[in-house]
Amino acid sequence: MSANKTVLVINSGSSSIKYQLVDPVGEAEIAGGLVEQIGEPDGRIVHEFEGRRYELVGPIADHAAGLRLAYDMFADSGLNLDDAGIAAVGHRVVHGGTSFHEPTLITGEVLAEIVRLSELAPLHNPPNAIGIEVAREHFPDLPHVAVFDTGFFRSLPEAAATYAIDREVAAAYGVRRYGFHGTSHEYVSRQVPQLLGREPAETNTIVLHLGNGASASAVRGGVAVETSMGLTPLEGLVMGTRPGDLDPGILLHLHRTAGMNVEDLDVLLNRRSGLKGMSGVNDFRELGRLRAEGDAAAQLAYEVYVHRLRKYVGAYLAVLGRVDAIAFTAGVGENAADVREDALAGLERLGVAVDAARNRAPGRGARVISAESSEVSVLVVPTNEELAIAQAAWRFV
Ligand code: ADP
Repeated sequence: MSANKTVLVINSGSSSIKYQLVDPVGEAEIAGGLVEQIGEPDGRIVHEFEGRRYELVGPIADHAAGLRLAYDMFADSGLNLDDAGIAAVGHRVVHGGTSFHEPTLITGEVLAEIVRLSELAPLHNPPNAIGIEVAREHFPDLPHVAVFDTGFFRSLPEAAATYAIDREVAAAYGVRRYGFHGTSHEYVSRQVPQLLGREPAETNTIVLHLGNGASASAVRGGVAVETSMGLTPLEGLVMGTRPGDLDPGILLHLHRTAGMNVEDLDVLLNRRSGLKGMSGVNDFRELGRLRAEGDAAAQLAYEVYVHRLRKYVGAYLAVLGRVDAIAFTAGVGENAADVREDALAGLERLGVAVDAARNRAPGRGARVISAESSEVSVLVVPTNEELAIAQAAWRFV
């Protein structure tokens, strides 16, 4: 590898670190891996380089140990990170609040602000900050760049970003719609006009990011105008373990009648809801297996998931007025043909027609799955958040 042409991307979660060495110009993933179950007895790291897979099992004490292990894995697989031409380290940070929108060079002050923003994202920003701290210790001479999940949604109109509550309470406590998965929504919404040979400024797109977390966005001419996640990543679509939209009165009801306190409700909303809460499993493939066995709870969970998705598609058709494309992305969106078909079935009058054969045809790359007659193009566009983060960090150097 020649001098300083790669970016190390780090996505540090509460018990995991995803990392990838990326060539931002050649748009290639060079090597990467996942450190899991940090702090648990059954820690694990899986690393991939040149088509080979390396695995190590054993306790990993903390994030610093996890990053050190990842560093060693690079060396063991034959790629010394000190000679890998790293120009910058890109960090995924979930919440930028109103402080950060653009990718930002991390200084001590920036890191302190990311930590302060933990009050808006108590599950996400603390482990993001830990990842930054250990990476800065490990690579003190490299620029570290934070890329914010909320950044793409800075453009939401006030009518979309404002919650209809007491405005003084909202202002005092930062209560507004921030939106998440912004890196993915931005990346996918930029791919769409390229794929369709259209002018970006004249392309209106609905992006459906369906992974473990799930969110929808409405993008007008490259500018985000609406999104389904809110102050936190709990709102909107049904997710693996999160409920998406709820009547907020449910929380008051459970507090009063079931005696649930804030911690109980936090666990209910973040871990015991969504597909997991309704069916017992949060993984979409497992849900499919249960449905195939005739499991009624799994079938209902699937129907709730698809119903919510349709509701959002309908809402965003109305928000945008004219829609040119609907793009599915992330684990479920890229792979689950039944979800794509069921969510958009019967919308021909609204200009949306999925071609069953195109939709079912196996494929991994970006592809159009709508019928020739469909006014709205329907696409599958694989997301690549690591590449987007790497390119954002690359622009600094
Ligand atoms: P995240 O990045 O949010 O952790 P992903 O984008 O990797 O999540 O998506 C994970 C989800 O995608 C899981 O529910 C998984 O079951 C689902 N998924 C992955 N591959 C398939 C597939 N072939 N068919 C259906 N669902 C799939």
